[in-house]
Amino acid sequence: MDLLKNLNNKQSEVVSEIRKNLLILAGAGSGKTLVLVRRIAWLIKKLNCPPKSILAVTFTNKAASELKIRVKSLINDNPKNNIWVGTFHSFAYYLLRIHYLEAGLSKNFQIIDNDDQKRLIKRIIVKMGLKSKIYTIDNILKYINSFKNSIFFVKKNTMNNDIFNINLSKIYEEYQNLCKITEVIDFNELILCLYKLFLNNNSILKKYQKRFKNILVDEFQDTNDIQYKFISLLYNKHYDTKIVLVGDDDQSIYGWRGAQIENINHFLKDFDKVKIILLEQNYRSTHNILHAANELISNNNSRLKKKLWTNANNGKLISIYFALNEFDEAEYIAKYIKKKFIKNNIKLNNCAILYRNNIQSRVLEEILLKFNIPYQIYGGIRFFERQEIKNTLSYLRLISNFNDDSAFERILNVPKRGIGSKTVKIIKDISKKFSLTLWESSIYLIKNKKCLSILSLNALKNFIDLIKLLRRDINKQSLSVMIEKTIKNSGLWDMYKQNNLSEKNSTKINNLKELINAADYFMYNSLYEKNELKIKKNNILINFLSQTLLENDNLNKESTTNFEDCIQMMTIHSSKGLEFSQVFIIGMEEGIFPNKVSLINNTDLYEERRLAYVGITRAKEKLILTYTKKRYIYGKEKKSIPSRFLNELPKNCIKKISYLTNKNILLNNNNNLISNKKYFIGQTVLHQVFGKGIILKIEKIKNNKKLQIKFNDTVIKWIMSNYIQILI
Ligand code: ATP
Ligand code: MG
Repeated sequence: MDLLKNLNNKQSEVVSEIRKNLLILAGAGSGKTLVLVRRIAWLIKKLNCPPKSILAVTFTNKAASELKIRVKSLINDNPKNNIWVGTFHSFAYYLLRIHYLEAGLSKNFQIIDNDDQKRLIKRIIVKMGLKSKIYTIDNILKYINSFKNSIFFVKKNTMNNDIFNINLSKIYEEYQNLCKITEVIDFNELILCLYKLFLNNNSILKKYQKRFKNILVDEFQDTNDIQYKFISLLYNKHYDTKIVLVGDDDQSIYGWRGAQIENINHFLKDFDKVKIILLEQNYRSTHNILHAANELISNNNSRLKKKLWTNANNGKLISIYFALNEFDEAEYIAKYIKKKFIKNNIKLNNCAILYRNNIQSRVLEEILLKFNIPYQIYGGIRFFERQEIKNTLSYLRLISNFNDDSAFERILNVPKRGIGSKTVKIIKDISKKFSLTLWESSIYLIKNKKCLSILSLNALKNFIDLIKLLRRDINKQSLSVMIEKTIKNSGLWDMYKQNNLSEKNSTKINNLKELINAADYFMYNSLYEKNELKIKKNNILINFLSQTLLENDNLNKESTTNFEDCIQMMTIHSSKGLEFSQVFIIGMEEGIFPNKVSLINNTDLYEERRLAYVGITRAKEKLILTYTKKRYIYGKEKKSIPSRFLNELPKNCIKKISYLTNKNILLNNNNNLISNKKYFIGQTVLHQVFGKGIILKIEKIKNNKKLQIKFNDTVIKWIMSNYIQILI
């Protein structure tokens, strides 16, 4: 393939300019990722660069997997594909696995997520006897993470000597200590740890400097301080390393995670021979969509002000649907999809529903299920964050590392095995007294037969024996068999199976089955087997566990519904870098999007607007934005105010549709659930005794209807329709 085919001059330059370091500043859909991918192919095919000399990193899992897929498709004739393509975190993880000794980590270190971090923090607060009102878990988590995201932040805070800060420092130390003892590492520490390793171990640093002669970073606008410093360290001009950074200041949406747009300026100052290339032609969207995005983002200050234009025709108008409530909003979308996609046999993969917060997906899921529309959620209550999956993973973590306190605590009494809070407290007290891990404390208690009743002691012993037994066979069986055994022998399977009648629990069983599939998939497609940085087989469980955190979305996606055609649902954050023919963005309301927090200051509001810009520019052909008249938020029905972003869109690009008038554009209603138009989901109704409520479900019973209605915040009841009055 001609690697410069169809590219404009600027794009060609990015692909083939190899004398200089490059900074590509460009708007959405201008081909940034495309040229990065072509450049990788160019380096290998035209310049015979060894694939292993290439390091391509990006910020999110989704973006990384997109990059991987695109690179693969260009150089698939090379079976020994050992280019490093991945996120900063996965890169750091793999290198730390290799250099764990030098990095001061234990051999079997495992990654923990926010939840586990919180668990550790809670223990520390209790241990230090601090008032949790001042030292809230969330604040401390934020502090610890910020600490690790920026070296500058560390300096600033250690200078401040008031009691609050002194305590924070102590918590931090204690936290680090606990991580060390329990052999775990949090996400932010991964990069910091590798950075420190490079800084302190010149021979390791040199090894990788010599190796990675071509460093490419996509989504550069979202790198934080430590990531930037890390790239700077890896770059050595004496080895003729070339670095290409690609970014869009208008798409910087991770400020809250410490991303620094200033890194663009740092790069210009810190590196030699940097050439800036602007890409200004958008190839993705219709003129209407691009114009709307440009107008919206022009409301932000201090931008680099790139001009983004397109040759594309106007295309369809952007629709703005005014829904009655969140149920009507979801139903509108479901019916639209049925009418436009399913009836015309158009692939659903090309259609995305985006939202600001994960919780917004719940109602959508419910309605899509009812309409029999297949969908897939990225992120959100991600697969690996679901309760049943986390419980299983905690078993696996404990099996591979007895000292993993977070895992121990989580599953000690799940399913219930007679280990109550009293026992847990005694274990924790022993752990505190002798600085032991929870596992070690339990062994101590069992051996000394102290402090616990015979019943509790037996229960604890059985638990310890179970984990030991599961550990014994770890290397004798395949990963999926071992996971299946763990699920069954631990009692989790029976626990979730017991209540099989309820739909929710059978989903849980299905998810557990899916986890076993994912393990199989992992075995066969494992990066490690193909990668030159092979990791021994007996580490496969540990790697699988790390993978569940590192590549949460990818593993889930590829292992489950890769071949299925379904609607893509995700937060706007996770949609970055992707594109779809049709995009819905729901919940365009003040307080949701822009979110509540952002209404406090301009910096945050600007970030919300950039997020809106990202969302809008995902659409190639058709964009539909929705907002509601009222919606349930935290159990209360609230009147909604349309998002200010809607007002910022150019009037000539949009058409408005309202729930009051949209009936004729909807499908003829052949859906059984709502066969009688009199009642619909989301409808407000009145009951003599329970008062005002909202219809959640409708079931047909002979000639009547049974309605599930939510009254007040908590009361949900099934009521025959003849006992209620319609309010709307
Ligand atoms: P984002 O900012 O959203 O990450 P991007 O700048 O990385 O976007 P790409 O995803 O690389 O943009 O490209 C957007 C779309 O435009 C893709 O479908 C790509 O194939 C197409 N495209 C890019 N350049 C050209 C070109 N020269 N000719 C035709 N199509 C192009
Ligand atoms: Mg891109």
